[in-house]
Amino acid sequence: MPATIIDGKAFAARVRTQVAGHVTRLKQDHGITPGLAVVLVGEDPASQVYVRSKGKQTVEVGMKSVEHKLDAQTSEADLLAVIDRLNKDPEIHGILVQLPLPGHLDEDLVINSIAPEKDVDGFHISNVGLLGTGQKSMVPCTPLGCLMMLRDHHGSLSGMEAVVIGRSNIVGKPMAQLLLGDSCTVTIAHSRTKDLPEVVRRADIVVAAVGRPEMVPGDWIKPGATVIDVGINRLDAPEKGEGKTLLVGDVDYESCAAVAGAITPVPGGVGPMTIACLLANTVTACCRANSLSEPE
Ligand code: NDP
Repeated sequence: MPATIIDGKAFAARVRTQVAGHVTRLKQDHGITPGLAVVLVGEDPASQVYVRSKGKQTVEVGMKSVEHKLDAQTSEADLLAVIDRLNKDPEIHGILVQLPLPGHLDEDLVINSIAPEKDVDGFHISNVGLLGTGQKSMVPCTPLGCLMMLRDHHGSLSGMEAVVIGRSNIVGKPMAQLLLGDSCTVTIAHSRTKDLPEVVRRADIVVAAVGRPEMVPGDWIKPGATVIDVGINRLDAPEKGEGKTLLVGDVDYESCAAVAGAITPVPGGVGPMTIACLLANTVTACCRANSLSEPE
């Protein structure tokens, strides 16, 4: 049987509709407009695309969007001053500093200067600690999107064997925490893992967050397993025309889809869910800031 394709684009559209509904209620019932501030330092082209897309979607769901574009030479003190102003601004409920930052800026210091309750990316050390201890936190958007798709597809994940390939702070580790929180048996694999194919073959759920184009072939996948492909890799595609590129994930889609029970495509899988979850986190932050019950 061919794998079910988990349609992240359609799922994200549903999440945005729900967010827009919450925003309308916050405005009508409480006179509050949730606000999201995005801070971009430098001119990294991929970051510029993400920031544009975040701003556009923020406005589309009825929230206030603020963008701070700082030049690549901005000093740490100036960046921290911008964040400090946003921390104190009552109209801003979510703050996101687009990563990566230019090399002269200390990413940990910058992220940890965001007020934890406004840290809609969930990267502040307080939120990492809260997530790790199973307490209410801001959950990183990409793993949250993956979890939502998995819950939607499976219902309960309890007792399932999950293998997360990748141990980054922004995807792999929080993904593993979330799966553990849903009572999966979790393995985190990385570049030093011995016999990765055998480890992956145990999994009912495979989350690939590696950054290596099409690294996971179908013969690593247990028949019927669910494959969540977080990878976004841009390859040159001269066959499509001069200068054209092709977006592929970390799994080899064709061979994995032939064995898996369900799979997310690239593009149209995890990617759209990330921004939708950012918007949802901003509404959550806004509700918490105003002591209102937050969306489920
Ligand atoms: P990082 O580079 O921070 O982490 C990659 C991880 O993969 C590391 O833990 C590394 O191991 C591991 N790894 C590298 N090579 C291998 C290998 N041969 N075998 C096993 N493990 C390996 O990447 P990110 O977590 O930031 O991102 C991962 C992917 O997800 C990228 O393609 C990125 O573009 C994409 N991404 C997509 C998002 C979305 O919205 N869809 C959001 C964020 C990321 P080690 O620690 O040992 O070096």
